[in-house]
Amino acid sequence: MRAVMSEQLRQERVLLRLVSCCEDCEHFVDETEACDLIYPTVPHRRAVWDQAKDGDEMSFCKMFEAR
Ligand code: SF4
Repeated sequence: MRAVMSEQLRQERVLLRLVSCCEDCEHFVDETEACDLIYPTVPHRRAVWDQAKDGDEMSFCKMFEAR
């Protein structure tokens, strides 16, 4: 699933405590910063989301599982 970054999306992430980044996912291996399902992590890393600008196309991982 994809979403376009906006001020509304930023506020919803905070207000609704949305978790969707690799760092919040059961499949993220902290020691290696890799995905144990061997998915590319870059589009889903928290730093990418935190630094996104309005209009950037964001990607949610379909295999995300909350820790
Ligand atoms: S399953 Fe998706 S969200 Fe979870 S660590 Fe792998 S790439 Fe990241």
